[in-house]
Amino acid sequence: MPLERRSWAEPFKIKVVEHVRITTHEQRERAIAEAGYNTFLLRSRDVYIDLLTDSGTGAMSDRQWSGMMLGDEAYAGSESFYRLEAAVRRVYGYTHVIPTHQGRGAENIISRVLIQPGDVVPGNMYFTTTRLHQEMAGARFVDVIIDEAHDSSSEHPFKGDVDLNKLERVFQENPGRVPYVSVAATVNMAGGQPISLANMRAVYELAHRYGVKVILDATRVAENAWFIQQREPGQLGRSVAELVKDLCAASDGCTMSAKKDPIANIGGFLALNDAAIAEAACNLLVVFEGLHTYGGMAGRDMEAVAIGIEESIQDDHIRARIGQVLYLGEKLRKAGVPIVLPIGGHGIFLDARAFLPHVPQEHYPAQALAAALYLDAGIRAMERGIVSAGRDAVTGEERKPKLELVRLTIPRRVYTQAHMDVTAESVCEVFEQRESIRGLRMTFEPKLLRFFQARFEPRQ
Ligand SMILES: *Cc1c(COP(=O)(O)O)cnc(C)c1O
Repeated sequence: MPLERRSWAEPFKIKVVEHVRITTHEQRERAIAEAGYNTFLLRSRDVYIDLLTDSGTGAMSDRQWSGMMLGDEAYAGSESFYRLEAAVRRVYGYTHVIPTHQGRGAENIISRVLIQPGDVVPGNMYFTTTRLHQEMAGARFVDVIIDEAHDSSSEHPFKGDVDLNKLERVFQENPGRVPYVSVAATVNMAGGQPISLANMRAVYELAHRYGVKVILDATRVAENAWFIQQREPGQLGRSVAELVKDLCAASDGCTMSAKKDPIANIGGFLALNDAAIAEAACNLLVVFEGLHTYGGMAGRDMEAVAIGIEESIQDDHIRARIGQVLYLGEKLRKAGVPIVLPIGGHGIFLDARAFLPHVPQEHYPAQALAAALYLDAGIRAMERGIVSAGRDAVTGEERKPKLELVRLTIPRRVYTQAHMDVTAESVCEVFEQRESIRGLRMTFEPKLLRFFQARFEPRQ
């Protein structure tokens, strides 16, 4: 038997199933038109395999579900909060744990606490909600990721790395105006690409030399740790748990969406080492999220997050999780479908520029490709290109990112190998017919985070 199949087999079996509907081509044609050719606006009953996101869509374990029953719903001082606090301290190593309803709640608070209007926040490529909260707090975001990250064909093993020269230039050009460096683990917008431990430590050292803090977006830090274990000289073979701790130790705090790595349906937190910053954050917490012992989560949610955190750093779990992503990616790569390489941690990113070279970027090729994919077999993906990039906060011009991608995101512990096979078959079918795919025209554009609710129509 081929070894690669054996190597990522799931360390679990299925106890409960949820039925999904298989639709006809006519039904899908109607559904995508009603959704304005935006996969975010589809109803989930019309979707067969849902690869929109890995956010909150994972399958919780029997232990997490039984934890839900044990949730302490006290308004103040919930036992579930203290179990969450202990799990965060144990696994990530930070001192102060501030619960939030999800990741962006933590981003809102840390941005408001640390940023003064006119500040500059450098980061390894942007994430949609992270950058928006920084901008709404008055900062300008500067991308300091290595150039290779913007090249879909570069096979650099750590495309999430920060370019230290770019970072130092930002410090030198903006003395006293850089409150923190915003570093993401497995950079989503670059295709789920990891940062190396050596680079993370170098960023921390450089930032501290300039008196600047480092805030980690730890949303997918366990997946990042797995790539370090597999690829980074000197770190090979260390456990994911140890590497997660090391990555977090090279930061002053983190924001976390517990809907990703920790396999909860909702939840998040902000974690910090500095007592004064934590106190300022707690002051804002009661305004925007809730009391510091629930922060927008029910007791049962905190319980599920606490248990999910422990499950998320098990080597067997991560190996199977990323193994499944690699399985799908390898199938597509072998079929000649243009995808971002190396294959990332949480999904496969189709390179829409190479896929649809006849569709100019102003005609939203990745959006059009996501709609075409849905039409073929009911598989829902997400645009990560010009629509997601939005408009420049100052000029109002459309930002034109180099990467024009469609993300097939794999939820954790949800789909089978046969689902991955069907997905690969559908992408290959659409690739065969790519010349018939036309671009789109935007007919409705929301002001903020437009990709969520924008509407389109096909171009003639
Ligand atoms: C999802 C995500 C966030 C935001 O978290 P929410 O829970 O969706 O609010 C922030 N950063 C990254 C990298 C994410 O993937």
